[in-house]
Amino acid sequence: MLYTVDGLVLRAQNYGENDKLVTILTSEGKQVLLAKGARSMKSKIKNITEPFVYANFELNQKGSAIAWIKGGSSIEIFYNLREDVEKLFLATYVCDIANELSGERVECSDMLRLTLNTLFAIMNNMRPLAQIKAVYEMRAVAISGYCPNLDYCEECEEENAELTYFDITNGALICSDCLNKRGRIVKKNLSLTYDDIRERNVLIPLTPASRSAIRFAIGVPVEKIFSFNLSEAEDLKTFSKACEEYILYHLGHGFDSLDLYYSIL
Ligand SMILES: [Zn+2]
Repeated sequence: MLYTVDGLVLRAQNYGENDKLVTILTSEGKQVLLAKGARSMKSKIKNITEPFVYANFELNQKGSAIAWIKGGSSIEIFYNLREDVEKLFLATYVCDIANELSGERVECSDMLRLTLNTLFAIMNNMRPLAQIKAVYEMRAVAISGYCPNLDYCEECEEENAELTYFDITNGALICSDCLNKRGRIVKKNLSLTYDDIRERNVLIPLTPASRSAIRFAIGVPVEKIFSFNLSEAEDLKTFSKACEEYILYHLGHGFDSLDLYYSIL
């Protein structure tokens, strides 16, 4: 069967003598493809089997065997991501997250659009890289079914509390009054310290702007997710920490690409 599909290359692994196994993200899910001869200099599919390339792939597939790439043409190659090592490692981390949070034969159009927009934002320095990274982390995990609710305190439902904490474990907000109350109750029963309680629940103190940024990242249409500024360094730092801890907590592990990204900052 011959068919074509638009997909973003999330990863490319060497396979056999001269071939590659290429994982692409399409709007209908993640797919692994065989790229025969793609490592040869003369290969006509060489340029569309590199990471970060968004292309129209011409595929051939027999029955349920792995599809192989017959040809194709690039739509966007995000070339300059490879010219800056900080951008390269961040883009790799973004694609690793997309790979982890996407399934085969499941609707992935939101994840594809988000990932393409994010690579575009990184390539064009639309915002500080730390902000782009955090927005992507929060939106990707929200799309995948772990959307936090930061509209009001999870206990008293107050919307306008001044001092709030992001309850990473429950994907919720807790105000400082409720946290203090909870602390007194638990302390009476278990003789834990206030710090123990914070540690157990993974609570991150939020600034008002960082809380707004999280709500923005999960609430607005994908085309607008990068259209805000965090002018205070403290707000960006808090926003970054909250988004990274939230996604890593829910995925249950870190990423080599994330370690590499931090190793050069
Ligand atoms: Zn409360």
